[in-house]
Amino acid sequence: MKALYPGSFDPLTLGHLDLIRRGHELFGEIVIAVLENPTKVPSFSLKRRIYQIEQATKEIPGVEVTSFKGLTVECAKSHKAKLILRGLRAMSDFEYELQIAHTNRSLNQNMETVFLATETHHSFLSSSVVKEVARFGGKISHMVPDLVAKDLYNLYQENNKV
Ligand code: ADP
Repeated sequence: MKALYPGSFDPLTLGHLDLIRRGHELFGEIVIAVLENPTKVPSFSLKRRIYQIEQATKEIPGVEVTSFKGLTVECAKSHKAKLILRGLRAMSDFEYELQIAHTNRSLNQNMETVFLATETHHSFLSSSVVKEVARFGGKISHMVPDLVAKDLYNLYQENNKV
């Protein structure tokens, strides 16, 4: 079965990667769909976010990386994905995620959303937390794949020069 895993991935964390691995175990094929959000300026370009994910997932078979604008349900349909995969870190994620799942269901009655609970040791991880730590020169090697750690280092090194 094919699952769509949509998100900003700005940047990919080990929490995202864990969800991709477990999603792959459960469903076989995973399409990772990187959101191109015109209302938000990302830290990493769409192209770079896709590259970061491709590099981190190249050992996992059945993974495809793509981008999308607009409705997640339309993206899922165009890739023939039967379900949308999302992660739950804490109760605070739940309210928002449930609202999105209901919205998507109202737009497409055939679309299921499946939530996977994060590994406890990844439950504190978010792209924004990782960026906050990297900005102040903290250790991030246990939070993100190697390439992302390098990219974050370069990003904030550039910023600190200004
Ligand atoms: P969005 O802007 O769509 O929330 P994110 O890239 O922040 O995009 O997250 C994409 C998905 O990955 C969401 O379902 C989120 O709950 C999940 N996720 C984020 N961080 C983690 C983590 N540490 N462990 C597992 N899932 C996570």
